[in-house]
Amino acid sequence: HSAPPASESRPAVLCIGGSDSSGLAGLQMDARFCQAMNVHQACVITAVTAQNNQCVISHSATSVQACQAQFDAAMALKPQAIKIGLIANLEQLQWLCKTLSHIRAGGIPIIFDPVTVASCGGELAEKGVADNIAQLLPYCDVITPNLPEAEALSGTSLSTDQNINAAAQYFHQQGAEWVYIKGGHRQSKTLRDIVSHDQHMFALEQQRQENKNLRGTGCALASSIASALALGYEMVDALVIANMAVAEGIYHAKAVNHEAGPISAQGFPKSF
Ligand code: PLP
Repeated sequence: HSAPPASESRPAVLCIGGSDSSGLAGLQMDARFCQAMNVHQACVITAVTAQNNQCVISHSATSVQACQAQFDAAMALKPQAIKIGLIANLEQLQWLCKTLSHIRAGGIPIIFDPVTVASCGGELAEKGVADNIAQLLPYCDVITPNLPEAEALSGTSLSTDQNINAAAQYFHQQGAEWVYIKGGHRQSKTLRDIVSHDQHMFALEQQRQENKNLRGTGCALASSIASALALGYEMVDALVIANMAVAEGIYHAKAVNHEAGPISAQGFPKSF
């Protein structure tokens, strides 16, 4: 079939988060999913991390001044969505709250993936960030915790759906309009993500795939949501598109030599 008409411009997404030296997650993963969805990625690097599948070797936070300068430069591109990943310390959290309170008035959707720990297990954020992360929620349209993050942040054990509802209500009370709780950490045949908004909840379900190359799946989901919103999709559609992007990405994921590899952005339909 014929190629879609070349568009004269593409929207931009601003990704605020950490660099992952192994290229398995963080901003490097965001870049791949933005690109696959035909969206330009600008970034604010909050931390330079040195890590691999075994451990986090070091992480050094960027100064708030450097964050601000990167942010101002990126805003000149007029991003249509902002994705937030790693916030490395409390100063950055305060800076983001202040900065986003101004942006919020401009109606740019904000997607927050509350990472404090690398998928290899090492800490990436200063102690205290997780305890205060709720301060950011009044400025966020959607928060995308995985089950351990949702448990830790809401203080609820999430062994049943009823508890998942309680955790979602906690995030709503803190100010998040949409809550997307990723179910991948539960050992079950069916992978079940829960979306909550305005007193309604629904589940996005798929068969669990056997693939063990799962680094960067959280980053991929959140940057796909941001990309879809930047392209003009409604929130529900953006969440479903991102869910499908992750499923497709896991299907195409490969190891890196003999190491656990990242989710792949290669399976994307060319029409995005
Ligand atoms: N951001 C950075 C800088 C990371 O290193 C990681 C994981 O290692 C993440 C975010 C979250 O990764 P995931 O998408 O696997 O949850």
